[in-house]
Amino acid sequence: MDFLKPRYTPMNRRRRIYEGKAKVLYEGPEPGTLIQHFKDDATAFNAQKHEVIDGKGVLNNRISEFVFSHLNDIGVPTHFIRRLNMREQLIREVEIIPLEVVVRNVAAGSLATRLGLEEGTQLPRSIIEFYYKNDALNDPMVSEEHITAFGWATPQEIDDIMALAIRVNDFLSGLFLGVGIRLVDFKIETGRLWEGDMMRIVVADEISPDSCRLWDIKSSDKLDKDRFRKDLGGLIEAYTEVAKRLGIMSENEKVQTGGPRLVQ
Ligand code: UDP
Repeated sequence: MDFLKPRYTPMNRRRRIYEGKAKVLYEGPEPGTLIQHFKDDATAFNAQKHEVIDGKGVLNNRISEFVFSHLNDIGVPTHFIRRLNMREQLIREVEIIPLEVVVRNVAAGSLATRLGLEEGTQLPRSIIEFYYKNDALNDPMVSEEHITAFGWATPQEIDDIMALAIRVNDFLSGLFLGVGIRLVDFKIETGRLWEGDMMRIVVADEISPDSCRLWDIKSSDKLDKDRFRKDLGGLIEAYTEVAKRLGIMSENEKVQTGGPRLVQ
């Protein structure tokens, strides 16, 4: 029955569905699946700052695989199926909800600036914020009122998204605390997964040091994308440190660069 198996398609012949700043989505081997490819591109400030950092895609692919497969294991639904190779993972096709969902435990970044809080202040409780995904508008912050009025998500879906965000926060806070890292804040994206007539909201996109603020508990060193945003250098070393502490990479291993590359 070999003819029933999905045929391997060389990556330069796969249909490109979408290209973002740090990832590309290709058509998957079966209907309802996609291939998510992690690029080495780093962008910040709505892509005004851009650099290619050799090895970043490989590290984010591995770290995101680790987080998503554990979320699946504890019953937090995600789009993740399995990692395919150094830069790619197989995912379920979902209808992305156009919101960036940010969860904060400690004041930093735009919250610290907006409300004049000192960076590093523990928040009285975890705070969830929504931003409308729109590059032309610079991802403005929006409230539940805007989300329901403009039909980006229903009140029930907002409840589901917030419940997912809290479960992800609890899982990630514990995971990182266990390896000496403080989870300051992070961003998730969510999508609608259709299974016949049934729809559920799942965690989509990626969870990696590109989308989290991670501070070493002892030294307060930044182990995340702020190394790029703030020109601190050492981004690959920081992401490698996160991967090693999580047990994804062994102590003496160096990130392999190369692997399947984007064919322009
Ligand atoms: N974040 C992200 N993508 C974005 C904006 C923010 O992954 O387009 C993450 C960011 O890495 C941080 C959290 O969301 O972990 C909160 O970011 P913040 O609103 O403070 O914005 P920033 O100061 O990073 O622009």
